[in-house]
Amino acid sequence: MAASAYLDHNATSPLRPAAFESMVEVLRAGGNPSSVHAAGRKARAVVEAARRQVASLVGALPTEIVFTSGGTEANSLALSGAGRRRVLVSAVEHDSVLRAVPGAEIVGVDGNGVVDLVALEQALASSGDEPVLVSVMLANNETGVLQPIAEAVRLARGAGALVHCDAVQAAGKVPVDVHGLGVDYLSLSAHKIGGPTGVGALMVRNGAPFATDRRGGGQESNRRAGTENVAGIAGFGAAAQEAGKQAAEGLDLAGWRDRIELSLVQIAPQARIFGACAKRITNTSCIAMPGVPAETQVMALDLAGVYISAGAACSSGKVQRSAVLAAMGVPAEEAATAVRISLGWNTELADIERLITAWRDLYIRVTQSDISQAEAA
Ligand code: PLP
Repeated sequence: MAASAYLDHNATSPLRPAAFESMVEVLRAGGNPSSVHAAGRKARAVVEAARRQVASLVGALPTEIVFTSGGTEANSLALSGAGRRRVLVSAVEHDSVLRAVPGAEIVGVDGNGVVDLVALEQALASSGDEPVLVSVMLANNETGVLQPIAEAVRLARGAGALVHCDAVQAAGKVPVDVHGLGVDYLSLSAHKIGGPTGVGALMVRNGAPFATDRRGGGQESNRRAGTENVAGIAGFGAAAQEAGKQAAEGLDLAGWRDRIELSLVQIAPQARIFGACAKRITNTSCIAMPGVPAETQVMALDLAGVYISAGAACSSGKVQRSAVLAAMGVPAEEAATAVRISLGWNTELADIERLITAWRDLYIRVTQSDISQAEAA
């Protein structure tokens, strides 16, 4: 049995061996893709091969892919690159969207975390002739809930608005077809699909407006200045290829996700699963163990060799109140007991069993100590 069960793929997914190998090869070879000599041309070939692999993961044309330093930069590039517009974002977006544009207007979600399309339609209708950009994610990082992007695009198109979609958590888990969805911009991140951290991509639909204020070299067809992270891009390409294959073959984690949810609800009947009534990606479960703070659960499971997270991972390492659960109307005390379990490409049945056992042990410990405290009182 493995020494630990890593069930935090939505924070970062372990590097796939194919990604690792392609990166080592590129690091050994070196080369700047802008150089005209043979070493440069070799590096350029690596970048362009990866561009095709990443494009293929989401049904885009290679010319529509702009490599970035990750999902955060892709989101920021999309929201600034679309030009001066009124920006409408869903209430459950990642911070990198919520904070990208000062003054962005929030469109609410229902109790399952699904964007309120009536509110979106009303906000679009109130825009008159003002140019608008709508940003709605494909899958939520905390709950896994999938958003009705095609419907949002239909409404936005009717109002002449552009659409950005943050697909960082969805790509490689569900089939994504940018042209079928009809979005203008779509963000991706390598480390959520088994590629390295620090690399991502923005899909910019051919013909969509795009102007960047990043000054520097003319890399990425003048859309993102700076020498490309060639090894990272190679790793991203390899991970995209493998993730795409698994998504197409239906790497189906739903069975294991359901087994976790069923078991945890059997152990603690008041446990609540957030977004359970909505369509979700199959790898994610956000669940509240009543009365037990999320930090306590994360620490107890960590000691048992099971790695999960409390709401969204945040850069300071501190657990903050989940804005996603707040937008869904979850009371603060209940949200404070919610943890996120996220499975991925290397998850095994033993990891699931280990999680369930550790969670059961913790629940029994907590409830027994509650009983003995009540008896002592
Ligand atoms: N968007 C979503 C939905 C995410 O979950 C994340 C990371 O957690 C990001 C964007 C940011 O991606 P990156 O870590 O590559 O900057």
